[in-house]
Amino acid sequence: MKVLVVNCGSSSLKYQLFDMTDESVLAKGLVERIGIDGSVLKHEPASKDKVVINADIKNHSIAIKLVTEALTDKNHGVITDMTEISAVGHRVVHGAEKFASSVLITTEVMQALEECIEMAPLHNPPNILGINACAELMPGVDQVGVFDTAFHQTMPKHAFIYGLPYEAYEKYRIRRYGFHGTSHRFVSKVAADMMGKDIKDVKLITCHLGNGSSVAAVDGGKCIDTSMGLTPLEGLVMGTRCGDIDPAILPILMKKEGMDADQIDEYINKKCGVLGISGVSSDFRDIEGAAHEGNKRAQLALDLFAYRVKKYIGSYAAALNGVDAIVFTAGLGENSSSMREAICTGLEYLGTKIDTVKNNVRGKATEISVDGAKVKLFIIPTNEELVIARDTKEICAK
Ligand code: ADP
Repeated sequence: MKVLVVNCGSSSLKYQLFDMTDESVLAKGLVERIGIDGSVLKHEPASKDKVVINADIKNHSIAIKLVTEALTDKNHGVITDMTEISAVGHRVVHGAEKFASSVLITTEVMQALEECIEMAPLHNPPNILGINACAELMPGVDQVGVFDTAFHQTMPKHAFIYGLPYEAYEKYRIRRYGFHGTSHRFVSKVAADMMGKDIKDVKLITCHLGNGSSVAAVDGGKCIDTSMGLTPLEGLVMGTRCGDIDPAILPILMKKEGMDADQIDEYINKKCGVLGISGVSSDFRDIEGAAHEGNKRAQLALDLFAYRVKKYIGSYAAALNGVDAIVFTAGLGENSSSMREAICTGLEYLGTKIDTVKNNVRGKATEISVDGAKVKLFIIPTNEELVIARDTKEICAK
């Protein structure tokens, strides 16, 4: 069975074609600058040379069409005909309370997805465009939605309700949802496997540290708390997002800087985080480089980021009443040994210690705690696409 995984952003589209008989990736690629000058498709077949196709890609339908042409191309294609693809799995950012697990897309599901737009105005519309474009180009092929929020739907009410009048939840469903759920779910399972334990028997803290970052507390395979909230803005300081702040800052800044609601929204999403603190970049590689050269604000951004992650680890150890393993994943979590060391230094009270020699590794599933540590530390590369492909296969096989 071949499954196409599609992840549509507002101006980008990532895809991977899996052969689910052995979960191998036949091809993957990326369409960038959809609807913008200079749009391009970068296609990487597994056993052939990469190709870069420059084209005028006005919308997501054209992007999907180009992807199907690349997949079936005589030279750089990996299948002879699109009918070889049995199903398409789509990443959907916000499923609100409607979706606690992945679903087969139906007319009713599409209607529910439309209703979730107000919760994720930037993310859900391109996801919907991608589903519609695939449905149009691949009529009769099953489409499955896999939600970033779904894994966190097991959070208890005391973890997801905000300190607002309860009517805000009843009227508008304003509550904490959490994101990166597919990643937290994937690394939790791998961590349990690496410990040789059933996931039902382990307490985990999973740290997804990338451009967007979140931490989750996972008890027996179920999420009981996570750092992102109604939107992916809450929690850790991120590349450009402010994370947890005193909400009173918003009206103060709006008055002082004469910003309206849309402007302050853009400010807290795009101008803050380690970019705003360092004044250097939103990319941790640039910030680490600048700090290395003596830039004090860059160093402050790194120190602050590590401190916040450490605080979340401590609070989730309390929420879980103990922890068996802490997992690092995503771009920064998988690759930055110095950030992992900064976060883990001083966690000895929890019964763990980072092994600085084992920690000197990147992008490989491995244990990085000292031998015999009560609480294990792991690096586990995430693979959200594989989870989407597996869910799609399971749902379509039913
Ligand atoms: P996204 O949230 O966009 O999916 P990723 O998980 O790909 O993000 O993480 C991207 C971030 O990971 C980059 O912005 C960069 O800050 C960080 N990163 C990637 N590789 C390294 C590295 N070798 N050292 C430090 N940081 C890195």
